[in-house]
Amino acid sequence: MNFREIIDLIESAKLDSPVYRIKRYLDTKEKKFVYVFLSTRTRDEVTLDATERFYREYGSIWNIDNPEHVAQVIKPVAFYRVKANNLYRISVEYKDIPETLDELLEMPGVGIKVAKVFLAEMGYDYVGVDTHVHRIVNRIGIIHTDNPRDTDIILNRIVPKSLRRHVNVHLVALGQTICRARSPRCEICPIQRHCRYFLNRS
Ligand code: SF4
Repeated sequence: MNFREIIDLIESAKLDSPVYRIKRYLDTKEKKFVYVFLSTRTRDEVTLDATERFYREYGSIWNIDNPEHVAQVIKPVAFYRVKANNLYRISVEYKDIPETLDELLEMPGVGIKVAKVFLAEMGYDYVGVDTHVHRIVNRIGIIHTDNPRDTDIILNRIVPKSLRRHVNVHLVALGQTICRARSPRCEICPIQRHCRYFLNRS
C-alpha cells in the first residue's frame, strides 16, 4: 500500500474540514494536549468550543483551582466530570506535559489514543488511531481489524515512520468530509483508486 500517495492525494484535495481549521488554533503544546484530552467520544466542534472556553477561563491547566468549575466550563464534552477531575490532578501532579509515550500513559485519563494523537501533533512518529482512522483504513482494505486497538498496533508497525504523524490529521479530514461513517461520498473521493470498498462496488 502506497501510504505516501494516499496522504498526498488527500492533502492536495484541500478538503474543507474542521480538523485543518482546528489545527491552526492549536498553536501551543498545552492547547494541543487539552484539545486531544477533551476530544474522546466527543465531536470535534464541541471539543473545540470547550477548549476555547477552557482557555478563556483559565489561560492554562496550571491555573485550575476547582474541578467542579472546570466541569461546568468544558461541559458538554463526553465524561466532562471525569475529564475535569483528571485535568485538575494533572495541574497538581505535573509541571509540564511530557513528550514520551510511557510518561503520557501514566497521566490520569490518558489512554493510547490521546497519547499518540498528541505525540503526532507534536511531530513525533506515531499514528493516532481514532474512529475515523479505524473506519477508513479498514474500508480501504489496508488492514482488517475489529477494533481501534488492533488498528493502532498494526498501523504503528506498517506505516513508514516518516509518515506516521501525518496519518491522523488527513484521514480525519477525509472522514469528516467524504468517507463519512454513513453514506461515504465515494464518487468524489480523492483516494478511490486505492480503496477496496470502492473498487469492489464498481
Ligand atoms: S472511496 Fe469511498 S469508502 Fe473508499 S476511502 Fe473514499 S469515500 Fe471512503
